[in-house]
Parts: sequence; structure tokens; C-alpha cells
Amino acid sequence: MPNYDIPEEGLRFSCIDGCSRCCRGDGYVWISENEIAEIATLLKVAPELFKREYTIRRNDRYILKDKRNITECIFLTEKGKCSVYEARPIQCRTYPFWPRIILDKELFNYEYLQCPGLGEGDPVPRERILEMLAEGEKVFGDPDLGR
Ligand code: SF4
Repeated sequence: MPNYDIPEEGLRFSCIDGCSRCCRGDGYVWISENEIAEIATLLKVAPELFKREYTIRRNDRYILKDKRNITECIFLTEKGKCSVYEARPIQCRTYPFWPRIILDKELFNYEYLQCPGLGEGDPVPRERILEMLAEGEKVFGDPDLGR
């Protein structure tokens, strides 16, 4: 694991209900076979159908499709809610604590300005952030794949 610079007291973060900024705009959401199976179960569709309807293959991996003609997640509702929230992928669960963001102070400061939840609420404990970073390393592999 890289040497992540995280304060002992953790970092304050609390997602703002209805914000959904991180579900819009450029970037990929990587989704594993297990995550495909979980969302497919939630939607009561077969995994192969799910892959055809909601994903794009990138080499030997999958990313979620955007909506047609809009760069926002295919599962974002008009009210700015995630329609598969209970089964959302690790990448979504761990934002903004992605390896690339935590390793790059400039990028972290950029995300701090973009995400109104960063700096809000109680601190997320350092240990929990390290766990999320470890999960993120598995998702992204090379941290440069993170966006
Ligand atoms: S940008 Fe931040 S506050 Fe907004 S939905 Fe994403 S995590 Fe939550």
C-alpha cells in the first residue's frame, strides 16, 4: 500500500443528500463481476442481460454506461438519487477516498471544492479511510485508472 498521508484524527466527510455531483460528468465507474451480479439481483434481471443493457466492456473489465447523450450515471434518477444505492459499486461507496485523490494534494484540493460533503460532518476514522483506499486499489489497479 502506498504511504497515504491521512491525519490521525481522520477526515471530515458526510455525503449531502440529493447532491449527486459525483454521479455526473466525465469518468468511468468500474464494476466487477460480483457487483454486476449484486445489482442484477436487485433489479431482478440476469447478469448477462444486465451487462448488455447497463455496461460497456473495456478489455477484460466492465464500466457502467452513462445515460444516452448525457454524462451522468445510468442509475441516477431525476431526483438525483441512486436507484441501485443498496448495491452500488465499491467505487461509488468509497468516493472521495480514492487512492489517486488521496495521493495527489492538488487533486484532493480540487475534489474538496467540487464535493460539498468533504469537510462536513464527523471525521471518518483514519482506519476506515485506509480500508476504503485498499478497496479502491483493487478497483482501480493503477491509480491513474481512477478517473
Ligand atoms: S459530490 Fe460529495 S456530497 Fe455530492 S453526492 Fe458526491 S459524495 Fe455526496
